[in-house]
Amino acid sequence: MKNASHAELAEKFIANEPRTDWHDQTLWWIRQKRDKAVHNVPEWEQLRQWASEIKDHTLSKLDDYLIEFEKNAKANGIQVHWAIDAAAHNQIIKEISERHTVKRIVKSKSMLTEECHLNEFLQAAGIEVIDTDLGERIVQLRNEPPSHIVLPAIHLKKQDVSETFHIHLGTEKNNNDPQYLAASARTHLRDKFLQADMAITGVNFAVAETGGFVVCTNEGNADMGAHAAKIHIACMGIEKIIPKAEHLAIFTRLLARSATGQPITTYTSHFHRPRDGQEMHVIIVDNGRSRQLGREDFRNSLKCIRCAACFNTCPVYRRSGGHSYHTAVAGPIGAILNPNLDMKANADLPFASTLCGSCTHVCPVKINIHEQLWKWRQVIAEEGHVSGSKQKAMQLMAWVLSKPTVYRFSGRMARWMLRNFSFLVKSKKLNPWFRQREMPAAPKESFREWYIKNNQK
Ligand code: SF4
Repeated sequence: MKNASHAELAEKFIANEPRTDWHDQTLWWIRQKRDKAVHNVPEWEQLRQWASEIKDHTLSKLDDYLIEFEKNAKANGIQVHWAIDAAAHNQIIKEISERHTVKRIVKSKSMLTEECHLNEFLQAAGIEVIDTDLGERIVQLRNEPPSHIVLPAIHLKKQDVSETFHIHLGTEKNNNDPQYLAASARTHLRDKFLQADMAITGVNFAVAETGGFVVCTNEGNADMGAHAAKIHIACMGIEKIIPKAEHLAIFTRLLARSATGQPITTYTSHFHRPRDGQEMHVIIVDNGRSRQLGREDFRNSLKCIRCAACFNTCPVYRRSGGHSYHTAVAGPIGAILNPNLDMKANADLPFASTLCGSCTHVCPVKINIHEQLWKWRQVIAEEGHVSGSKQKAMQLMAWVLSKPTVYRFSGRMARWMLRNFSFLVKSKKLNPWFRQREMPAAPKESFREWYIKNNQK
């Protein structure tokens, strides 16, 4: 069965207009917080430039830096594994779990494990996996995927959270007090931390020079899990590597401000070696990233530090919600990463954009996101993954635009239709484009006609 497209899923989301407005405004508020934080750093553009160049350099020597990281991490007592794809990543975790008869795992936010569908895989093997980031736990209880990479439950209101906690955690019905709800989640999660046999975390930055890695959270849940459990597994994509510890100063300043407007994440934890009696593993995952590295036009999408600034500014994301992207990583960056993973299944995503360029403008590592969206559209069309009707419409448009006489005639016809049959053009049923738009009055003449008339000497 064909999965629903972005447009179909977005239609469901926007059916609730007040919620769509609220979602839009909430994310815009975060974008404005980001702007304020950025304006307080005079050297912001310099930081972006350095970050972009460090990532460019790292990607050009990725194999060297990964091997350097492996060598140094092993010397620190960390066990390093390589996974070619999601299946290999999941299998490694399952094998470590079986070796230690692990039955309960706590997991902090990791979009890589979402991409690999790790929870479903481990649960099918009879292992309990509890997401400990508050937003992730909320969506996990609701059996939903995260809708945003930094704010996984941003599509939900406190009333939704209250109802979810009442059903699953037995909290008071209709008690929407955020403090009460957060305290209830804390009590619930504390038990899970104490019972866990293993902790899984993501990795924000892995440092080749030291063999250590950094995990950024605002709730301290990654630290709590990793410090309480006997086994800590950190999962990272191959693009998370940076060459030197001194580079962290640039990236951590950029990350928190771009994500939430904070000067730094509340917890920026550096892991270098297992503590006495603990086992520490790092799984380095490819899962299509080498393929993206080989695509010249798209390779710099691997510079992404997952701050989600491009989500918060995107007019399409803000009004269509994260679930409409039907992939683990949504938003503009998801729309350029996911066609690489499965071009056919994700062929709709690069079209879910106005190409306004706001994403590129805010990206802290200077990824040319909107240009890649435009480029993907061409690749997808060349590979035959756009619908027949769209192809025909584009061919017709190309024909009209390449024939000046036909173009001028079409313009005259369109103006005449607007004047005489506007009810047809503006019919919300026949023309869904106008559901949320107003048409201008048809001008008497085209700009060309006006120009010729007014510029005759
Ligand atoms: S593409 Fe840029 S703005 Fe978007 S999540 Fe990645 S780093 Fe942030």
